[in-house]
Amino acid sequence: MKKDRLILLLPLLLCLGSTGCAPKPFSAAEKRTIGSQQEGIMRLWTIDNPGDSLFLRKQARKVTPDMMRSEEFRTLCQRMLLTVQDSTNPGVGIAAPQVGIPCRLIAVQRFDKPGEPFELYANPEILRYGEKKVASPEGCLSVPGRRGTVSRSDEIQLQYTDPRTESTHEETIKGFTAIIFQHETDHLDGTLYIDKLIDEPQQ
Ligand SMILES: [Zn+2]
Repeated sequence: MKKDRLILLLPLLLCLGSTGCAPKPFSAAEKRTIGSQQEGIMRLWTIDNPGDSLFLRKQARKVTPDMMRSEEFRTLCQRMLLTVQDSTNPGVGIAAPQVGIPCRLIAVQRFDKPGEPFELYANPEILRYGEKKVASPEGCLSVPGRRGTVSRSDEIQLQYTDPRTESTHEETIKGFTAIIFQHETDHLDGTLYIDKLIDEPQQ
């Protein structure tokens, strides 16, 4: 190989050999939004703020193994759980875009499990929607002060990655918990429950 070509290749080889050039799981702006564990509850992004509203309509990106192993991801998980359980504004589920992080991560309260715990799910995907539909009232932390009726499947087949083990699972979920999963996974595709109302929104 000619010497001048080697000189050109050298920075590239050095770059590939170090982690410094690998894509970062979170951008600098996202790191600032995630902040630190000491900061507690996160700001909720809501449709009454024009900038937030556009952001909430974006497609969220997949959670990668690198992301799951990062300190920022652990902080994000903890702060999302604190935010959805804020006693002054509690929810039954939350998606990462609602706190300004466009990645496919949700927390859902498992009303179908003893103790009704909140659990985190990475890359949730609904593989099958049950044919039976139920109409029920919904609200959303990103749509303050409103509720409305949405028709959703009473049962779903869910695939997800457990962020603690990075293992992928499939599960059949029924009833109210299945409705929460449908609401939260919609957020990851920029869809809000107000897009699916079957009645006039209640103010
Ligand atoms: Zn919501």
